[in-house]
Amino acid sequence: MIHQEPDCLFCRIVRGEIPASIVYRNEHVVAFRDITPVASQHLLIIPVKHIVSLNDLAAEDEGIAGHILLAAGIVADIVGIRESGYRLVFNTGRDAMQSVLHIHAHLLGGNLMGWPPFPADAVLHR
Ligand code: AMP
Repeated sequence: MIHQEPDCLFCRIVRGEIPASIVYRNEHVVAFRDITPVASQHLLIIPVKHIVSLNDLAAEDEGIAGHILLAAGIVADIVGIRESGYRLVFNTGRDAMQSVLHIHAHLLGGNLMGWPPFPADAVLHR
């Protein structure tokens, strides 16, 4: 039995209790459109298993981590940005402004992006 949390927003999307625009799913991951897109194409790829963040990945989750990365190219293909390019972002913790505590990869593309991803006047912690 795959671990899920009853009240987790993304676990509820996995279970179909909350509607989402799902573009791909397999037994390990679900990919759906972000409700507040910040790029022309903005998808979230999440594991079916409830894992809070990258910090909470255990050695036994090695396969799940791989399935998230493998899904990125598949989903990029589905939404038509595999060749033009895309960025995969795992917001983790406070400084990265992670707001949903179920690990998710943001798949961003469909337009030219900047680098670095934070404001030029950002205060760097040294
Ligand atoms: P993060 O801030 O990295 O934790 O990202 C959470 C993302 O989940 C944000 O980009 C939100 O727009 C997105 N989000 C929140 N609720 C939903 C929802 N019900 N369906 C799709 N995306 C959502």
